[in-house]
Amino acid sequence: MKRTQVAIIGAGPGGATAAAYLRRAGIECLLIEKDPFPRYHIGESLTGECGAIIRDLGLGDEMARRRHPVKHGVKVFGPTGATSWYVPVMRREGDTLVDSTTWQVRRSDFDAMLLEHARAVGADFMQGEVVNVLRNEQGDVIGVQVRPHDSQHLLDIDADVVVDASGLGTFLSRQDVAAPRVPGRYAKQVAIFSQIANPVRGGEYPDDTLIFYGDKHHWAWFIPLDDEIVSVGVTAPGAYVAARGESKAEFLRRELHELNPNLAERITDDRLVEEVRAIPNFSYNVPRFTGRGFLCIGDAHRFIDPIFSFGVYMAMKEAQLAADAIRDYLDGAHRDAADPFAAYAALSTRAQDALQETVDGFWDFPLAFAFFVHQRYREDFIDIFAGRLFNAPDTFRGLQGLRNLRAHAQQNQMASTA
Ligand SMILES: Cc1cc2nc3c(=O)[nH]c(=O)nc-3n(C[C@H](O)[C@H](O)[C@H](O)COP(=O)(O)OP(=O)(O)OC[C@H]3O[C@@H](n4cnc5c(N)ncnc54)[C@H](O)[C@@H]3O)c2cc1C
Repeated sequence: MKRTQVAIIGAGPGGATAAAYLRRAGIECLLIEKDPFPRYHIGESLTGECGAIIRDLGLGDEMARRRHPVKHGVKVFGPTGATSWYVPVMRREGDTLVDSTTWQVRRSDFDAMLLEHARAVGADFMQGEVVNVLRNEQGDVIGVQVRPHDSQHLLDIDADVVVDASGLGTFLSRQDVAAPRVPGRYAKQVAIFSQIANPVRGGEYPDDTLIFYGDKHHWAWFIPLDDEIVSVGVTAPGAYVAARGESKAEFLRRELHELNPNLAERITDDRLVEEVRAIPNFSYNVPRFTGRGFLCIGDAHRFIDPIFSFGVYMAMKEAQLAADAIRDYLDGAHRDAADPFAAYAALSTRAQDALQETVDGFWDFPLAFAFFVHQRYREDFIDIFAGRLFNAPDTFRGLQGLRNLRAHAQQNQMASTA
């Protein structure tokens, strides 16, 4: 039996960031990770506000030392490859938008850096797999059971709070502690991805993220990882991928040449220099993800769609907010509440819903979306793409514009079926 104030399941960006902020508040915590680091992970392009959290953790210089490519913005190419729109990374100084930058990351290196940092600031670490949840007679979560890598025996760990940062594993949902997963709107998509060497980058900022639109729900990413290697991936409806009947590598290589002319022109060598991987069913929501003794952060409760590179940011921002909520709880706030972490859940849900509206707007109204982003609501979308979704997403006129379009489209549809 071991005891800690906070047990954290998973040491990805969410778990390691939660540990760092808990330590900043003087709280004891134990990170438990099943995979030895460094390990491969997808999710390489970061938003502007993600960069801000990295700097807040004191890791800006370390990112530069590790030579992670600097990202100034994201460019989205239309289906012919001839038109594009661009969203720069900008931060807010008061009401003013100021040029800023963030990073592209090789996750093996980035995640190891975050874990090293969490340990350096005093987080305990255990290599092992969390296999069970401990609950008291009232059903409150009071700890976890771990299979440590260096032992045959299961180990019980008592904790005041358990943070689920297990990513796609959605551990507490699968243990029937949090609610069951509900498939998201993009659940039938499949992503197939790898890396290529020495493609043509071009543009003012050669390390920016490029997105290539093929047709609805069918697109590719291009994310520089160093001076030579670029991460490439294609996301498409599962039915389309299955109908092609190709191996993952055949599929990806052909798509790189066919999906968008602008992407095809960049490929100088289509050898895939990293294992070709696929992730299906990545879109889901765990509707109730907090309760007595536990809360979930990042992919452990919701992932919408990779298109605008929000996953790592959402995990790290929620980690920061969760650490605040846990500090208040340990100081005595909401101790007897049915859900002591309800306020954190509400903040997260509001931001995630705003992100969902943004992604849905892009797919349902691509031309209007491009006009909104480039001209009509430019500042709103610079804020949204940076990740400033947690304060007051209801005030974004750009999102209201998307809602109006949706209402209009629904009225037209009803009129045409009447
Ligand atoms: C195709 C695709 C492309 C993407 N591209 C981007 C992108 O460009 N930018 C971006 O920001 N995001 C992107 N994402 C999303 C991003 O990968 C995730 O949102 C992000 O990694 C979530 O971080 P996390 O800490 O919540 O989970 P993870 O990074 O998945 O970390 C979870 C950790 O928990 C560990 N774990 C799981 N179960 C247990 C257990 N029982 N016991 C112990 N340890 C456990 C795992 O080993 C893992 O290390 C993409 C996602 C997909 C599917």
